[in-house]
Amino acid sequence: MDCIFCKIAKNEIDATVIYEDNEVVAFDDLHPQAPQHKLIIPRKHITTLNDLTTEDESLVGHIYTVAKQLAAELGIDESGYRVVMNCNAGAGQTVFHIHAHLLGGRAMTWPPG
Ligand code: 5GP
Ligand code: ZN
Repeated sequence: MDCIFCKIAKNEIDATVIYEDNEVVAFDDLHPQAPQHKLIIPRKHITTLNDLTTEDESLVGHIYTVAKQLAAELGIDESGYRVVMNCNAGAGQTVFHIHAHLLGGRAMTWPPG
């Protein structure tokens, strides 16, 4: 399977990895949309949120726990941050391996465009 995020998870292509464990990898977004913009991906290939199963519930929970830990390390936990997953092209998904965006370091508008 030709998936860029699977390749990052396997260290087959470069990324600035800031955290990894047996379940997830977190790294800098290539085109940051905020002063802090990280991506947190599961090592397991899941194409979109629509492909989640109940088996993945602890994995998705873990992504959020890692996000809040990284937010604290990056110093954006008190000022505020956003954790978001886009599902399918209409919502802006361009890489079809689920990933949480962790964005912070600036004021966020709501709703997102
Ligand atoms: P999406 O639009 O699917 O929600 O988010 C995909 C994100 O992945 C985008 O913010 C994009 O900048 C980032 N991205 C795409 N290709 C690469 C890559 O090869 N390396 C890194 N670090 N980020 C990437
Ligand atoms: Zn993948």
